[in-house]
Amino acid sequence: MQPLPPGSTIGILGGGQLGRMLAMAAAQIGYRCHVYAPEGRAVAADVCETRTTAAFEDEAALGRFADACDVLTYEFENVPTAPLKALGLADMVRPGIPALDIAQSRIAEKNFFSDLGARTAPFAWVEDDTTLEDAVEQIGAPAILKTDRMGYDGKGQARIDAAEAVRRGWSKIGQRPAVMEGFVSFDAEFSVILVRAASGEIRFWDSTRNIHEDGILRRSIWPAGPAIEGQVAEARNLARTAAERLGAIGVLTFEFFATADGPLFNECAPRVHNSGHWTIEGAVTSQFENHIRAIAGLPLGDCGTVGRRIEMSNLIGDEIGESAAILGDQAAHLHHYGKADARPGRKMGHVTKLYF
Ligand code: AMP
Repeated sequence: MQPLPPGSTIGILGGGQLGRMLAMAAAQIGYRCHVYAPEGRAVAADVCETRTTAAFEDEAALGRFADACDVLTYEFENVPTAPLKALGLADMVRPGIPALDIAQSRIAEKNFFSDLGARTAPFAWVEDDTTLEDAVEQIGAPAILKTDRMGYDGKGQARIDAAEAVRRGWSKIGQRPAVMEGFVSFDAEFSVILVRAASGEIRFWDSTRNIHEDGILRRSIWPAGPAIEGQVAEARNLARTAAERLGAIGVLTFEFFATADGPLFNECAPRVHNSGHWTIEGAVTSQFENHIRAIAGLPLGDCGTVGRRIEMSNLIGDEIGESAAILGDQAAHLHHYGKADARPGRKMGHVTKLYF
């Protein structure tokens, strides 16, 4: 692939903080970005010259957007793929439509990764009363019901502590088609983040220890510690095989549980990821810059880690607080996403602390 010349336009589907950080990395190496987002306020558009406000299903608007861009990417994995396919845009979208299709459905994802030999939590498909009863019998309690589609940050999930509570759990998630997963006992959580170039070359960032609360990432810490470090090689093998099988170009993220029996695959996000935000200051080349390099056909940058200890903390809801107070700590780098409304559970920014 010929590298995209400076001044070319990268189209970003989705207008959140991931798009904002992608656009900032793209500007650094001379590209313009055009954000496509349905919502009124899109924080990615603060740092882009051009923006389209339209629904993801609006084929006329999507077609005009694609005509104005040289390559397309996305920062939100629930972008509907049917309109992109109908418009013949699949070849323009990176990391790629096959990766999006797999990641948008938990059952498709579980089946794809199981076929590649991944260990996953035991799971069963639920779509009506009969399959719900069968799933409880098969999986037992405790378990988690997760909607097949449109779940993120713990949304669309219900914990089932006892088999009797299963109907309540299914009501909580709107009786939508779902996957019931057995509750896994794990020592720690980590992600494998890789970048794949158009040439097929793959590079990995170090894995951090990821700490979640209520289904939302709170912190990523490096070094990740021995419980994780001993499992990274096996997890990377799976991630590499998946990236190659999907023909993906750009950054992909794979989340794992470190268990007594080795890495257990949880889910894949075919995009830059919250657990890779530390790479902005903590790696020679960040996930955002390498994603842009990969989709633009440029050589990849070094993914090596800088420093002795790194800690990334999300600022959720009113934790965003006063910037001056956060920056009083000399180790802290503040990333404020520019969102107006500090609603509970909303990711408002993050802080990365580097210790040398
Ligand atoms: P997910 O949206 O699937 O990534 O789930 C969000 C978080 O919930 C994970 O990072 C875990 O902390 C927890 N979780 C999800 N699935 C399971 C499971 N099967 N067993 C135990 N904890 C889980």
